[in-house]
Amino acid sequence: SLFGLPDQAAHERVLLATDPATGLKAILAVHSTARGPAFGGCRLWHYDSEAAALNDALRLSQGMSLKNALTDLPFGGGKAVILKPQGDFDRPALFAAFGRAVQSLNGAYITAEDVGTTTADMRGLQAVTPFVSGIPRDGAFGGDPSPKTAWGVFVSIRAGVRLVLGRSSLDGVRVALQGLGAVGWHLAEFLHQAGARLIVADVDAAKVQRAAERFGATAVHVGEILAADVDVLAPCALGASLNTQTVPAVRAKLIAGAANNQLATTADGDALQARGICYLPDYLVNAGGIISVAREYRGEGEETAVMAEVSKIAERVEELLQRVQKADSTPARVADDWARSKLVKPA
Ligand code: NAD
Repeated sequence: SLFGLPDQAAHERVLLATDPATGLKAILAVHSTARGPAFGGCRLWHYDSEAAALNDALRLSQGMSLKNALTDLPFGGGKAVILKPQGDFDRPALFAAFGRAVQSLNGAYITAEDVGTTTADMRGLQAVTPFVSGIPRDGAFGGDPSPKTAWGVFVSIRAGVRLVLGRSSLDGVRVALQGLGAVGWHLAEFLHQAGARLIVADVDAAKVQRAAERFGATAVHVGEILAADVDVLAPCALGASLNTQTVPAVRAKLIAGAANNQLATTADGDALQARGICYLPDYLVNAGGIISVAREYRGEGEETAVMAEVSKIAERVEELLQRVQKADSTPARVADDWARSKLVKPA
């Protein structure tokens, strides 16, 4: 049933936007506006089917509701996916058509970049709609949220290493990084500077080569990274990487990464816990990017203040682990309950 997909609470509205002239096929999912306008990025991706695109949009937008609530942002959750046209396409025209779809929601949904979209795409959208963020601005705060996302993941790993692994620093800690993209690369920089030993994989061999040269990282095959013999696993590629096939092979004791929707299902979080592996929920640790674009959108951006706010993610990690101990539950379940309790209009 379209209205009762498993694992997905009801959405307020879902817009299927098409524009035959540009080839646009997009899904704009507004999960919740209880806390404010739904805020979440726009993904441009080639999907195997329209159903897969819808499923991705719904899962991602629900995740944004939980992320924005747990981060105490005055925004609800939404997400858009554009089904990548086959062959050559006019990118500015496609994004202009997408911008008109965003505009048609009259501010119920605010967009920004995500996988497959860039700051240039967001700048193009600005000509069509004001409901967009993540744009470099002369003399003002703004732009690519990825470094902020990476910083949030880094401080979460640092907190997890201290609280879960009982180690006082990252020096010599072995971290497996799946994906060396916009976030993964910045995370690799932070981890390397802190003395961590990196094991990396990416489908793009050139990025792996650069990581080996710059960070002395050890490269492994993409099929082996999740089972690498490490202390920490940081999934920074795409979603559902932790599933019934991969979870039994994980050797890390701590998982914290940027990818959205890392758990295929909540049961995979239970399975990790049963194996003694602490999974820090993705939407808790990867909120640095939304903090950045939300501040930019509200005109409250300033580098030091944004970084300070992102650093507070580590305090929430600590609070979550305390709640998990008290509740005798898993981090994923406790975070979900915690976030859902905040899915109301902020006082
Ligand atoms: P990106 O597209 O720049 O990077 C993804 C990287 O993963 C690419 O280098 C790609 O080649 C690699 N990859 C793809 N499949 C892989 C596989 N099977 N094994 C190994 N590597 C693989 O995207 P990004 O902006 O770095 O985002 C990464 C993840 O973090 C996404 O799930 C995104 O939704 C999430 N996220 C990003 C932000 C942000 O600020 N960019 C914020 C929150 C969450």
